[in-house]
Amino acid sequence: MRVHLPLPEVAPATARLEGERFHHLVRVLRAAVGDTVEVFDGRGRCFGARIAAIEADAAVVELGPAVVPRALRRIALVQGLPKGDKLDAVLRHGTELGASCFAPAFTERSLVKLDGARAAVRLKRWARIAEEAARQCGRADVPQVLPAKPLADAFAGAGPARAFVLDEEEAGMTLSRAFEAALGKTDPVCLVVGPEGGLSRVEVETLCALGAQPVSLGRRILRTETASLAALSVLLHLDGELG
Ligand code: SAM
Repeated sequence: MRVHLPLPEVAPATARLEGERFHHLVRVLRAAVGDTVEVFDGRGRCFGARIAAIEADAAVVELGPAVVPRALRRIALVQGLPKGDKLDAVLRHGTELGASCFAPAFTERSLVKLDGARAAVRLKRWARIAEEAARQCGRADVPQVLPAKPLADAFAGAGPARAFVLDEEEAGMTLSRAFEAALGKTDPVCLVVGPEGGLSRVEVETLCALGAQPVSLGRRILRTETASLAALSVLLHLDGELG
């Protein structure tokens, strides 16, 4: 059993699990006093813990020493906002495949419009999907999900990195060949993927002017959600963390 619980820099000896965390652990997983759980703080630390007491609406856990698994390369995914619940799959499986940050982007051909209230509700849901996926796959960190922004702002928000824009019209350079220069190092990487309708040439050129390199994933035209997960898989494999 694993539970995500943000903790201060100096972790306390005991901690209280309340609300949704308590419900999932005690009501759903039927955890009992004396059971061991793994607590992860979402920022890269894990703690072996033991349930010391269960109250009406809280569980008290005794925390063991922090364990800090080796961090994977920071990979930001700037994702052209797709229709429906495709972004859910990108968040869920992208978390399993090592994405550290998701930056949803409104692009010229995005069909999805999100206003203030709906955007806030979606962002909360997206963050919960990433947290649940991190819990399930054993990560110590929870990927950051940024609010959806226009493409250039989303790209800037993803932070400094070696940036690759996935461009199905790129004939020369593949992602794996372009990534070779970053191999063996810990440079952060940013991947930019278009929505169902793709990125316009102006958008690709703008991203290149901002330092991104256009790369191909091969001859097939992949769905946006497939392209994101395939690109993350390529990087994770080249970093020796997948297959
Ligand atoms: N122009 C595409 C078409 O003709 O269907 C639409 C875009 S494709 C469905 C969605 C996104 O996935 C693209 O914007 C690109 O970022 C990425 N993508 C798909 N196939 C790719 C490939 N072979 N190489 C690089 N990127 C690809």
